[in-house]
Amino acid sequence: MALDAQHNFFLRVKTERFVEDEFYVPRERRHAAGWFHRRAVLSGQDIAITVRDISEARQQANELARMAKTDTLTGLPNRHWLNDTLPVMLQQAHEAGQRLALLAIDLDDFKNINDALGHRNGDLVLASVAKAMRDVVPEKHRLARLGGDEFVVVLDDLVDGDGSTEAQALMSAIAHSATGTVWEKFPLKASMGISVHPCDGKDAQVLMQAAGIALYEAKSQGKSQYRHYDEKYAQKIRDRTQLERELQLAIQHDEFVMFYQPRVNARTGRFSSMEALIRWQHPERGLISPDEFIAVAEQTRLVIPLGELVIRKVCSQMAVWISQGVNMKRVSVNVSALQLHDDSLRQMLGNSLQEHGLHASLIAIELTESSMLDEGGTAIRELQKLRELGIQLQIDDFGTGYSSLSQLQSLNIDVIKIDQSFIRKLGKDYQSEVLCETIVSIGRTLDITIVAEGVETAVQLRNLQAMGCDEVQGYLLSRPVPAEDIPALMLQPFFEEADQV
Ligand code: C2E
Ligand code: CA
Ligand code: CA
Repeated sequence: MALDAQHNFFLRVKTERFVEDEFYVPRERRHAAGWFHRRAVLSGQDIAITVRDISEARQQANELARMAKTDTLTGLPNRHWLNDTLPVMLQQAHEAGQRLALLAIDLDDFKNINDALGHRNGDLVLASVAKAMRDVVPEKHRLARLGGDEFVVVLDDLVDGDGSTEAQALMSAIAHSATGTVWEKFPLKASMGISVHPCDGKDAQVLMQAAGIALYEAKSQGKSQYRHYDEKYAQKIRDRTQLERELQLAIQHDEFVMFYQPRVNARTGRFSSMEALIRWQHPERGLISPDEFIAVAEQTRLVIPLGELVIRKVCSQMAVWISQGVNMKRVSVNVSALQLHDDSLRQMLGNSLQEHGLHASLIAIELTESSMLDEGGTAIRELQKLRELGIQLQIDDFGTGYSSLSQLQSLNIDVIKIDQSFIRKLGKDYQSEVLCETIVSIGRTLDITIVAEGVETAVQLRNLQAMGCDEVQGYLLSRPVPAEDIPALMLQPFFEEADQV
């Protein structure tokens, strides 16, 4: 300790009679550095001093403080760190007249990876993504994990860039982070939102919000990309909130109608069943397509009451058709995974069928592959119970998600609908053709009916017939139509019976 510091200390003890402080002793030859606590009391002419080595306690306290700001899984700084540090960095950037960019990063469909590989592997994926990102983010650019699959990078020395270069480098690092691991076959991608100080905001909260809005835009534009904040994205979110409010009212006032699209036997050309597709009969905007509101209904869970409305409408429509003497065919209804979280869908279906005196075999539910991902969970149990009631299970948009053959079999899946994107490429793209053929042969092996959706051309139809696909659905045969058009379509042939192939 420097001499004058000691001198000052004793002078203080003389005047204050009692002094307590902590001091640091740097490492010297064989002696390690350490922190000490010192207490001095003046008693008459004597000064009694006690000195305690507090190095360990001090280290523990530091470690605790560091841990509180560190994410245990990845070792990266966490949200607390960001909350504490970002305002300081912004103040420094402001004083230096520098720009600062915030990159909000979110892995795409990480939930699927977690569901398919389990949470422990999910954690390993996160740790390896974090490591890959750390390799491209230089020390001075700070990388933090906010929780889950959300990360943030602070670029605090932007000279002339806008964060795009860094965003691209991070995306490619993330994409390559799985190489050589068990989860290599799951494509790892991320979406990013970028906001820049000072143009998008001056304080930390506004800037974080702007990056979040840009990220949301990147996600809704199909993911795996980055977006810079723009005021029009914020407007879009406000519009969405408005849509949500309107949708809520529309459900209360029942402004929905069902259209029905025939499914046709690919061999005979005859009506085999139909799919119920919802339309919003908006008082001012006219008929609105589900593409404009189903996603919002899912995000806000409004799809649950909406789904109940759909079931009620379909069942009462079937009763009307039957009363008109129609030889009733099965109707399939699109169901969201959210509707399988408890038994309310099953109760609803049971009640509606009973109320209208309908047999359960007249109803089928269409679900996407992702609804079956929570193996062993409530959704699967509900699906099994629905199946036991005699309700058919059909997999929609097949080929776009992950489902296993064993799952198809154990769940007793009745129908697979090949996704439109593959049908669209038939006759143009060899791979899609092989894929469709494979699905058809899986169907044959597992005794599952294969349906091709989105059939628009005669070439596609001929291709599918040649493969032995069971049923076709698409504009070539019929668009979705109002209920009153269905009885006539049930009777007419859609094409001449194909020669046996
Ligand atoms: P989806 O279940 O895959 O339904 C097929 C969509 O493709 C329908 O669009 C249908 O009109 C359209 N489509 C049929 N044939 C062709 C074709 O040849 N070419 C093209 N380009 N499109 C064709 P829609 O009716 O607009 O429905 C869109 C999506 O909204 C549906 O996709 C489904 O995911 C969802 N949806 C519709 N009704 C309901 C519902 O009642 N409940 C829920 N949860 N979702 C629904
Ligand atoms: Ca469907
Ligand atoms: Ca579909």
